[in-house]
Amino acid sequence: MFDLIIRNGTVVDGTGSARFKADVAIKGDSVVSVGKINGEAASEIDATGKVVTPGFIDLHTHSDNSFLIDPHADSKLTQGVTFELMGNCGMSYCAPLNENNIDGFKERTDKYDPNYQPGWSTMDGYLTALEEAGSTINVAAQVGHGTVRRAVMGMETNMPSPEQLDQMIGLFADSLDAGALGMSTGLWYSPGSYSLADEIIAVTQPAADRGKLYSSHIRSEADDLGGLFPAHAEAIEIGRRTGARIQISHVKAVGPKFWGRGYELIEGMERARTEGIDVAGDQYPYEWSSTGFSGAMFARWALVGGRQATLDRLADSDTRAQVRADVTYYINRNHSAEGCVVASFPPDQSLEGRNLQDIADEWGCEPEEAALRLYEQSEGNYVLHSMELKDIDAIAKWPLMAILRWLIVA
Ligand SMILES: [Zn+2]
Repeated sequence: MFDLIIRNGTVVDGTGSARFKADVAIKGDSVVSVGKINGEAASEIDATGKVVTPGFIDLHTHSDNSFLIDPHADSKLTQGVTFELMGNCGMSYCAPLNENNIDGFKERTDKYDPNYQPGWSTMDGYLTALEEAGSTINVAAQVGHGTVRRAVMGMETNMPSPEQLDQMIGLFADSLDAGALGMSTGLWYSPGSYSLADEIIAVTQPAADRGKLYSSHIRSEADDLGGLFPAHAEAIEIGRRTGARIQISHVKAVGPKFWGRGYELIEGMERARTEGIDVAGDQYPYEWSSTGFSGAMFARWALVGGRQATLDRLADSDTRAQVRADVTYYINRNHSAEGCVVASFPPDQSLEGRNLQDIADEWGCEPEEAALRLYEQSEGNYVLHSMELKDIDAIAKWPLMAILRWLIVA
């Protein structure tokens, strides 16, 4: 007697072998038989015309607080996701926490539950809280460089002093020993963008020493900052120097200069692997990317010092004009203002789903001015039409590329 039999489905077992028709029997929490099953079960599902697979692994999420607030995770379960790796892009905004970075946690959590108070400061405490909250799916945490750097140095743009670097390394080591599965960087975002490669090598060593993962939202995915290919090479170099296992996050070729060159990213990773560097990647298979208003639109200098400092710059008309000039560049580098669509804007949800050109027309201003006014009200999210299908295909075909399905992204 089985607990459950899923009959007549087409099984895709995740090993890479060809799909086949079979019944699947489950007892307790294990698959105990696959094939033609004659036995009986407490319940049965007829999966005729449907695919039966193991649960999907989502290697790149930002759900760090989600399971504390809603452990049922219906949005993921109904998409078939049974495992999430959180804490990506340098943002483990739930831990470690102190007075320097707690606003990152509040910003992310207030929109769901303004009364939620974290009862921990360490990764250990956070993981305990996660376990106590319970979750319908398996989750694992990573410790983020941006979060740790802010905890130690606030939003300072300089290199860490030897003491600060030691403190950061200690926070990484403690978080990994507490159970984080890896560490991540977001070198395109502030404060990750303020770091040099030397700092990243130093803070990645604890993960390398423990055989854990280094996930990186690389320094550039387009023609900003150092540019896509040097940034990609930097992630591989971190693996070469430290021995860490490298996961390049959401591999993509953004912007007209790089459209059509996605396959070169795969070639670079293959060459690194023949050299013995354990590098792999993940991808969200869409032509649209998504990120915060400031991350999408603002030059890095305009973000130094955090949100209040940026708002102060916008209050000064000369500086505002300089910020606006850079915003113009960011808007126009892909598919212009029509390709910038508001995905989330808590103060006025009626703007969600509308593009920047459309909003600017209604407000009687230029799109870049609309972008500034939106940011002045709140840090929301855009989706940006920034990629091309031929690159998405070339990247998706690589066997070591994990494909992601996201509802909430960054
Ligand atoms: Zn990212």
